[in-house]
Amino acid sequence: MRNCPHCGKKFKTNPALHKHIILCQLDKNEVKNSVVPTQKEMWVIIQKLYKENEIQKKKIEKLLKQQMDLIIMKIQVKEFYQEYKQNLKM
Ligand SMILES: [Zn+2]
Repeated sequence: MRNCPHCGKKFKTNPALHKHIILCQLDKNEVKNSVVPTQKEMWVIIQKLYKENEIQKKKIEKLLKQQMDLIIMKIQVKEFYQEYKQNLKM
């Protein structure tokens, strides 16, 4: 068993630990005096970033949709109120 120097997480195998350290040091902003990733590790990082980016894109889309629904609702309430006021005058 070996531990990650950044977060202390335990790993049974060295390759698993190494792969984790590459990503963990990115998370912890400790890239300056760190292990330089191999091409294969770069690929792992790119895949991770891609996945996270996709998740964030979906979250942003959801938030924008909620925002739009809210705006539409506000407009509808305003229109309803104006119509109500018009009807009272008649
Ligand atoms: Zn770690």
